[in-house]
Amino acid sequence: MSAKIQSVKGMNDILPSQSPTWQSVETVLRKVAELYAYQEIRTPVLEKTTLFRQALGEATDIIEKEMYAFEDAGGEHLCMRPENTASVVRAGIQHGLFYHNQIRLWYMGPMFRRDRPQKGRYRQFSQFGMEAIGWPNPEIDAEIIMASAKIWGLLGLQDIRLCLNTLGSNLSRERFKEALVTYLSDYKNELDVDSQRRLKTNPLRILDSKNQRTQDILNQAPQINDFIDSQESDHFAHICDLLTQSSIAFHIDASLVRGLDYYTSTVFEWVTDANGAQNAICGGGRYDGLIALHGGANTPACGFALGLDRLVECYQAQQHGNVTEQLDIYLITLSSNDSSLSTKIGESLRNAGYKTAMNHGAGKLKSQLKKANANGAKIALILGESESTQGVIQVKPLRGQGETQNIATSNLLNFIETNQLL
Ligand code: AMP
Repeated sequence: MSAKIQSVKGMNDILPSQSPTWQSVETVLRKVAELYAYQEIRTPVLEKTTLFRQALGEATDIIEKEMYAFEDAGGEHLCMRPENTASVVRAGIQHGLFYHNQIRLWYMGPMFRRDRPQKGRYRQFSQFGMEAIGWPNPEIDAEIIMASAKIWGLLGLQDIRLCLNTLGSNLSRERFKEALVTYLSDYKNELDVDSQRRLKTNPLRILDSKNQRTQDILNQAPQINDFIDSQESDHFAHICDLLTQSSIAFHIDASLVRGLDYYTSTVFEWVTDANGAQNAICGGGRYDGLIALHGGANTPACGFALGLDRLVECYQAQQHGNVTEQLDIYLITLSSNDSSLSTKIGESLRNAGYKTAMNHGAGKLKSQLKKANANGAKIALILGESESTQGVIQVKPLRGQGETQNIATSNLLNFIETNQLL
């Protein structure tokens, strides 16, 4: 016998017992997108590898080591998308969505990164994102943040904290980068190995270092705030005002840079302690230069991506465990001779809009009733041999809504409706 094949490491199956919880969370995400009048966009899972190289930056973790990239049989360099903002920008330019236009878009789907798997960090994971393209004003940054806050509110989640920062324009970021490199170069040998490498490739990422000695050195380092001009700090102050007016608490974190090259100006992250080391649930910010970088017109943009896997884990931990699916009716047929009659009854119940499961192919009444209860059915319908010859069916309420009764099959729907059994 050959060995059983397992799923790819870091790629999870979402089982029937978990799907209802995912669906509840997804319903809330769609609702929020709708409330803020964002339109859905669906892009392919495979893209040309250069798209992400260009958008995210060569010296980012994703590009350096996490891409599922390959050459296909036609010699094209393709990859499984590691995130979706670059794809949305690609699609928008390709289809002229941004041409003299402002547009609000949302997406949901799987992303792929070949990182080291652990709780909350997977190689296939799902993201939901909202992107507002074409607006430079701070009200849009605030709108994007408020939309994410609305999600936690509607899901009833507590203790998700907002960290906020501004990176300024490309110019101020470059000046800050230069000053940071000059300062850190004096301590080069004391930095952790990754930070030493990043001094050349991506110095801003050093601010993210978890190494204590590196963090001690950073305490005296130049701060991004000192390089931001008055227009940029007004933009940021306005966002902070709008959030305060909306009672959204935030913490300004000068070390928050986010991993990707495309961010400018506002950056933010929502974090929680519910998911262990992988504490970021959602991240986003402005990416005013990305559309021009991909050959579109100079277009401001702002958005976020949230991780569904982490959000679902947080929801289960804080709220309800798993959401269970509820049946309306469980139709039990005790004799296989009556299968065509029960199939007909089953279809008429579904046509009337009742969620109905059937046992198919006989079975013991007791064990079938157990199944009906386990599936959360509100009523069981029992078709035994004597019932079917008399043209009746037994109606057994399972949630204490009255007695078991024999009802003429021709009157079944009417009986269920008039007695409000469902
Ligand atoms: P990013 O695209 O890296 O800004 O991530 C946005 C959000 O996606 C994060 O806050 C996480 O919730 C989620 N996320 C990112 N990478 C992973 C991963 N490997 N596994 C699960 N969720 C992830």
